[in-house]
Amino acid sequence: MLTLHLKRGKDESLKRFHPWIFSGAVHHIDGQPAEGDLVRVVTSDDTFIAIGHWQIGSIAVRVLTFVDEPIDESFWQRRLACALQARKAMGLTGRQDNTTFRLVHGEGDSLPGLVIDIYGRTAVVQAHSVGMHVCRQNIAAALQQLDGLQLDNIFYKSETTLPFKAELGQENGFLIGGEADNVAIENGLRFHIDWLRGQKTGFFVDQRDNRALVEHYAQGRSVLNMFCYTGGFSVYALRGGAVKVHSVDSSAKAVELVNANVALNFPDDSRHEAFAEDAFRFLQQMEEDAYDLIILDPPAFAKHKDALRNALKGYTRLNLRAFEKIRPGGILFTFSCSQAVSKEQFRTAVFTAAALSGRNVRILHQLHQPADHPINIYHPEGEYLKGLVLYVE
Ligand code: SAH
Repeated sequence: MLTLHLKRGKDESLKRFHPWIFSGAVHHIDGQPAEGDLVRVVTSDDTFIAIGHWQIGSIAVRVLTFVDEPIDESFWQRRLACALQARKAMGLTGRQDNTTFRLVHGEGDSLPGLVIDIYGRTAVVQAHSVGMHVCRQNIAAALQQLDGLQLDNIFYKSETTLPFKAELGQENGFLIGGEADNVAIENGLRFHIDWLRGQKTGFFVDQRDNRALVEHYAQGRSVLNMFCYTGGFSVYALRGGAVKVHSVDSSAKAVELVNANVALNFPDDSRHEAFAEDAFRFLQQMEEDAYDLIILDPPAFAKHKDALRNALKGYTRLNLRAFEKIRPGGILFTFSCSQAVSKEQFRTAVFTAAALSGRNVRILHQLHQPADHPINIYHPEGEYLKGLVLYVE
C-alpha cells in the first residue's frame, strides 16, 4: 500500500473524522497509485491518520478507516455487520411485511462510495467510486456470509454511477445467484423492482416513511402524484382510501411501472389512472380544484453547486403551479432530493411560491430521509432529502 503524505495543517478535518481528503491537501505520494487503490495516509510529521481509496478528482481519498488495520475479509464483514445491526435497531430486519431497506448508505455507514439496497432475498450493490468497484467481490462475499440476511442473489449495478473517465467498461450483472423474484414488500405493499434497468437500485427506498404519511392523509382525497416513477406514493394513497389517484411522469416506462404496481396491489381499481406527460405542462393544463392532495417529488434539480440558482427558481415555479391549482383545504407534499440545496434554501423557494400564489399556507410536517439513510455526524453533506407537508387554505 502506498503512503500519502498530507500538507502541514491539512489533517484537521480528518481528526474530526470527516471521510474525504481533497486533492489540495495532498503533499505527495510515495509512488503512483492507480485509481481505486488503497493508500495509507500520514500527517506532515509522518503520523498515521487514515486508510482510504485513492481517486482522481477533487476528492483524492475516501476514507475507509481511521484505525491502522488491514482492509481484508474481516474488515468488510465487520462493517456490514455493523450496518445490519443498526437496521435491526431501526426495526427493519426480520419482517414479513417489509423486506425492502437500505443496508449501506455510503458515508452514513462509514463506507464512502458504497450503496446496498435489500429487496427480499436480493441485494443490489452500487459503487460510486472506483475503490468500491475494485472491492465488489469482497463486498459480495462478506454480504453472503452476513448473519441475519438470507440472500440468494447479489446484483451489481454501477454502470451509471461510476466516474465514466475511469473507463472500467463495467457491466451490470449478478455477482451471486441469478434468478430473482423481483417483487419486494414495503409496509405490506408489493412492488416490482427493476434492478436491471430502473433508476437508482430499481426503487426509491428513501421515501418509505413519507409514503406512509401520504397514506395517512389520503382518506377521501383526490390525489395527484407528480413525478411518480414506480408509483410508491400512488399505491399508498389507494390503500389510504383516496377517491381518485392520478400518477404523472414524463417517462412512458415509469407509467408502465406504476400501472404494474397498482395492478399488483389493487387489481382493476378504477380509482387510478397514469399519464405520461411533462410535469409543467400537466400542471399548467389541469383544472383548478381537481386535486386536494398533491405530491411533488421531482428529480434533483441541482446536481452541483453551480446549478443552484436555477434549481431554486425551478422549485419555486413548480410549487407555485401547485399552490395556484390545489383545492382549498388541500395538502401539498413537496420534496427536494438535491444535496446541493439546503433545507433553508428549499424552504425559502417554497415560501416564495406560496407568497406569489397569495394562498394561506401552513407547515404541518418537515420531512427528511429515513433512518436507513443515516447521516454521519462528521459528514453533514450526507443530508439530501427534505420535504414539507403544507396545508393550503
Ligand atoms: N416519487 C418517486 C421518485 C421520483 S424520481 C418515487 O417515490 O419512487 C423522479 C421522476 O421524475 C423520474 O421517474 C423521472 O422520469 C420523472 N421526471 C423527470 N423530469 C420530469 C418532468 N419534466 N415531468 C414529469 N416527470 C419528470
